[in-house]
This record gives sequence, structure tokens and C-alpha cells, in this order.
Amino acid sequence: MANSTFTLTNANVVTPNGVLYDGVVRVEDGLISFIGKWSELAQPEQDAWGKEAVDAKGGWVLPGFVDLHIHGGFGADFMDANAESYDKITKFHMEHGTTAMLATSMTQSHEALDRVMVAVDAYIKQGMKYTQLAGVHLEGPFVNPKYKGAQNDIYMIDPQIDWFEDWHARFPGLMKQVSLAPERNNATEAIRWLRAHDVNAAAAHTAATYDQVTAAANAGLNQAVHTFNAMTPIHHRDPGVAGAVLTDDRITAEIISDGIHVHPACIKMLSRTKASGKLVMITDAMSAAGMPDGQYDLGGLAVTMKEGVCRLTDGGSLAGSTLTMIQAVKNMIQFTGLPLHEVSRLASLNPAKQIGIDGYTGSIEVGKQADLVWTDADLNIERVWVKGSTHM
Ligand SMILES: [Zn+2]
Repeated sequence: MANSTFTLTNANVVTPNGVLYDGVVRVEDGLISFIGKWSELAQPEQDAWGKEAVDAKGGWVLPGFVDLHIHGGFGADFMDANAESYDKITKFHMEHGTTAMLATSMTQSHEALDRVMVAVDAYIKQGMKYTQLAGVHLEGPFVNPKYKGAQNDIYMIDPQIDWFEDWHARFPGLMKQVSLAPERNNATEAIRWLRAHDVNAAAAHTAATYDQVTAAANAGLNQAVHTFNAMTPIHHRDPGVAGAVLTDDRITAEIISDGIHVHPACIKMLSRTKASGKLVMITDAMSAAGMPDGQYDLGGLAVTMKEGVCRLTDGGSLAGSTLTMIQAVKNMIQFTGLPLHEVSRLASLNPAKQIGIDGYTGSIEVGKQADLVWTDADLNIERVWVKGSTHM
């Protein structure tokens, strides 16, 4: 693959531990083979690599983003369960820096969810051009109608371990995350089953108490979906789900940093209480991301987008976001004051680790895939590479 061998020069390379200024990233056959300074190279390498150079013009080079919670974009939804829609979603979000994601389903019928499993499995097997689908995140239907948010309550049921067993047998490794309400009947057994099969168990759309979440974490619960949204809030005598997520380091917290779903002050609070490896940025983007204001569908529910904010047409609940990962990164720097290399971890390495794909992506390290985002000094995207190839 000729276009997957090149050298990025004049780059400020964002690594998990800091920024390598005026650096070089060498990519060979889609893999990162060298990170360092131009001046460290011998003359023959400078001559050979210089011929295949891409001048980053003093901009940032970040690891591609990993989005664990994303429903769609550019008019398409993962519930559509077809390759045409999946091309639209992955192309749009690749253009905004995401190089790996979990196809995220909505609370829907078993039949509809089964169609998603079949479609994602087929899409992965036929070879993906844009953002790589790393698996499926089932958001519900095992959630609590009391905190339904923009999920359809007619499909909400207790966790069904026989569904998990069937999907696990037919699509080994495809289920990466299941989001459920820990207070539902059977939730503890479900959490144990999921963790025993290498699937993350996440608290979502839940009316649980602090004690119920702690008990669920004792059983293996290891993640929380869109922290603060659709969960019992913090009260100083009743810390609720949010209080458990903020203080229990066994739980990795997702956050939608669009400044609409959660107040910037609460995002800052979360960034200060969570251990550095236990916070992940997500978009929770829906089909309306990248589209003009108007009417959209979210898992069978009508959504109205006005000035980029999506609400259920009936009732006005906040629906999914129209956020992109690069915008989430910009917001996070502004909301928390964290330096770029730390925010980059929340968008790439932490989520990659959470689903066990950090062996090949999630950071700029020799031997990993060249999943790279080049931006200008203001974090506006210039180009994105997935496995060293670009389609921009
Ligand atoms: Zn949700």
C-alpha cells in the first residue's frame, strides 16, 4: 500500500506523557515505525524519508479518537443495520478525528438489536474504509423507564442473559459493552456474566442508589454511561449514581463534553475526582450530527434539532448530541484547563484501554497502527489517517 508509507514532519506530536515539539512520525505499511526528532536521523534516512514527507506545518499530530458511545451521524443511525448507513456514519466521524468506535444501539426490540449485530458483524468482515468499528455497545434495553431520557420505554426489560449467550456464540467478541440499570432484576447475574466474557458492564438510564451501584461494582460493574445524564443526581446525604461514579475508581466514567448535556463546572469536577485513567470522552452523537436543523429519528422516536441541540419532539427531553470528538476535545480543554496531552488521553488511550484495543491503537507509539489526526495550531482538522490511509 503505497499511500500508507510516509513521514510526517514539522509536527507537534501528542503522546500520553507530553508533547514532542518539532517532531517526526514515520509510518510504514500503516504502522508507526519511528517517533523522534529530524535531527536524530542519519543522512540516508533524511534523504529517503524526505521524499515521502507530509509537512505538518507546525500543527498538532494526535492519536485518532476512540468513541465508545455513538449512535450515528450524517443522517444515518446504527439501528439502520445496513452498510450504506455505516459508511455515512464512519466517514463523517473519521473526518472529525475518530478512528475507532463502538456501534451503539438504542433501546429497541430483540429483533431490531439482532439485526444490528448481524449488520455490524458483516460490515467488519467486508473490510472498513473509514473509522474502524471495534464492536457493539448495547445501550439498553435493560434500563429504567424512570430515567428513560430519549430511549423508548415500551422496549425496556430486565437483562436477558440468554440473549448475551446467543450473541456471544454467533458473534464472538463483537459485544464490547452492555449498558444497563443495576437496580433491575437479574442485573447482578448479568454483570457477572458480561465481565466473565470480557464485556464491559456499564450503568445507564438508572434510578439506582449509591449502595446499589457499589454492590454492582462489587459484582464487576466497570463503567458509567454519559455521567450525570439519565442517572440519580448527587445530594450530599444521598450521593446517588453520580456520587458513586465520581468516587469509585473501579468505574470508568463517560462524559459528553458539549456543554449542553452537562454544565462545564460539573465536567471540571468530574475531571478532578476521577483517576486519570478512568475518564473517557464520548460523543453520544445521533444521526443529526453534521446535518442542518430539522426533524430526525432516534431509535424510532421523533427528535427536533434547533441550533444544533436535539430534543424529543414529544416532551422535550435532551436526545443524543450533535457533538464530534474534535469539538469535544476543544471543549474539554476550555472547561477543565487540562493540557492537550491529558485531554488527548481521555479521547484516545483511556477508551482504547477500556475495550482492550490499546495494543494496536489509542496512542502514538512505535508498532501501533497509524491512526492519526493532524490539526492546525487551533485544533482544526487538516487530515486523518486510519491504519496509515487517508480518505479525505
Ligand atoms: Zn443514553
